[in-house]
Amino acid sequence: MLKSPAGRIGIMGGTFDPIHYGHLFAAAETADELKLDKVIFVPTGAPPHKKYKEMAGAIERYEMTLLAITGNERFEISRTETDRLGLSYTLDTLTAMRAMYPQSELFFITGVDAILDIDKWKNPFEITLMCTIAVVKRPGYDNARLCKLPGEIRSSVYVVGTPMLDISATDIRHRVSAGRGVRYLMPESVRAYIEKNGLYSIMDGESI
Ligand code: NAP
Repeated sequence: MLKSPAGRIGIMGGTFDPIHYGHLFAAAETADELKLDKVIFVPTGAPPHKKYKEMAGAIERYEMTLLAITGNERFEISRTETDRLGLSYTLDTLTAMRAMYPQSELFFITGVDAILDIDKWKNPFEITLMCTIAVVKRPGYDNARLCKLPGEIRSSVYVVGTPMLDISATDIRHRVSAGRGVRYLMPESVRAYIEKNGLYSIMDGESI
């Protein structure tokens, strides 16, 4: 429930393949820092920039995200991208969110490496007119790279003070496929979901 009719809403965009404590902590820190009323997690459906076949399915990533946010009343989840046919463009997501929350201030939250490519996204300048882009850095990240973004995009970027925990979805996928443990990197419910559904090529009989 929003504290005011307008409200400040974070839109946490990511592939979440899988979601982990780095994402959850980043969302909580950003919400505190920017005084957001809530954060809506939006798992991507079919990302334009990725080989879709190599990823867990959209429904599986949605379900893992739902499990991960359960219990935090400031966190919500949206199916806007996972239900949408075709490629998932952030512009379309922001347009849908704007229609749902016409009075709210919108903050699109994502990782710095994603934002560095924003000039290749669909209508990046329009995106910057619709929201503030809250960027979460990786530990040790050099801000100088962000300075290379075109000025009209850079002026809409807010860099979140707390860097991401040093946990990566790629590393988690590699660990699972190698049969290594991933306990304590994500909520136990997500780890159990990965195991139960055999995601990321878990070897038979291996414990994760
Ligand atoms: P990515 O390339 O998989 O991730 C880039 C980096 O950011 C990774 O280090 C990732 O960590 C981290 N990250 C991802 N989401 C994050 C979040 N919400 N908060 C903090 N760190 C995050 O990027 P992606 O996840 O596919 O895409 C990010 C967002 O940009 C999505 O909403 C996507 O739809 C959008 N996007 C839009 C377009 C377009 O409209 N054309 C194009 C590209 C991306 P992990 O690897 O650990 O997750």
